[in-house]
Amino acid sequence: KTLFVPKETAFAETRVAASPDTVKKLKALGLDIVIESGAGFASGIDDDAFRDAGAEIAGSDAAANADVIFRVRRPEPHEYEAYKSGAIVIAMMDPYGNEEALAAMAGKGISTIAMELMPRITRAQSMDVLSSQANLAGYQAVIEAAAVFDRAMPMMMTAAGTVPAARVFVMGAGVAGLQAIATARRLGAVVSATDVRPAAKEQVASLGAKFIAVEDDEFKAAETAGGYAKEMSDEYKAKQAELVAAHIAKQDVIITTALIPGRPAPRLVTRKMLSAMKLGSVAVDLAVERGGNIEGAEAGKVATVEGVSVIGYVNLPGRIAASASLLYAKNLLTFFQTLVDKESGAININREDELIAATLLTHEGAVVHPKFGGAAA
Ligand code: NAD
Repeated sequence: KTLFVPKETAFAETRVAASPDTVKKLKALGLDIVIESGAGFASGIDDDAFRDAGAEIAGSDAAANADVIFRVRRPEPHEYEAYKSGAIVIAMMDPYGNEEALAAMAGKGISTIAMELMPRITRAQSMDVLSSQANLAGYQAVIEAAAVFDRAMPMMMTAAGTVPAARVFVMGAGVAGLQAIATARRLGAVVSATDVRPAAKEQVASLGAKFIAVEDDEFKAAETAGGYAKEMSDEYKAKQAELVAAHIAKQDVIITTALIPGRPAPRLVTRKMLSAMKLGSVAVDLAVERGGNIEGAEAGKVATVEGVSVIGYVNLPGRIAASASLLYAKNLLTFFQTLVDKESGAININREDELIAATLLTHEGAVVHPKFGGAAA
């Protein structure tokens, strides 16, 4: 069987779905590995590094012969049109709102697996692409903010006077937010954070940041069984906005990471709140691709909104691509290893397995995922 890894075609996608280390391990499973020339370049991996690990380097047309394709993003129509029927494609498929592409891939007989739907259970921790990438995004958000901010992050007591520590406020204390808190703390900032899930309170405190939230009855019930946030009521949102507005006025940097699975990102910061911040303040909106937490944030840009530099870079993990690819490639490898029979080397898609049940979108000519119109196995 042949496994192909393309050079990603999506705009600004610098990551790659394999590393020399994972190539070696995939070969050990008995697969032939073919990597598109230049696929790893933006992640600091040249063709020779992949070749030395045992891969063959080829053009994009090699995709047509592949039994398995590892990708970062969902393939474009011109790409999946070339895949052979029965091919298995493993990627971040971004399935919500892209049902048409799913139907087309199903129609081609392609089996597709959405890595971002991996259940967040202990067994799948090493396959959790949302966590591996969000962790780096949280780190990178602070680095980007520090680069744009025109003051120092830590307090500095010098002979010429004292520079005060920057105040950093992190909204949404999931995987990205917690890493943003930790990174801002390492840089010496005074950090506070908010979330709607009560479990976040202790995690924020354990990182040395102050927790700020409307802790009413709705807050106490805001976490789903899967550990995610629920969409909050209008009443809660109004109370939250009031609390946040007063707090934001005293901050130098805000980093927003709030997401609700399958829903647009909640709007947490208005222009009016930004206008209360000091001139030269910085905001980073990690949710910009999902509609944005900050009013006025623009995808792919640093927008100036009410005197605040609002960083709306898309794909922050891609701005730290070598680290992001290393972890993403490892996530794919560990998942794929569960599909391969150790003795025969056969690749099985077992729909009874909870990892497959949660992530398999299309299979044997149909859309099979219940969330996208399919029937469960
Ligand atoms: P996410 O990316 O879906 O959302 C980011 C954060 O935004 C979340 O903490 C969410 O509660 C918060 N949020 C949503 N609406 C908000 C609002 N209106 N105001 C403020 N904050 C808001 O979340 P995530 O980073 O993927 O993490 C979700 C949960 O999953 C966390 O509890 C995390 O610890 C957990 N997790 C578990 C595992 C595991 O293997 N067990 C792995 C990774 C993450």
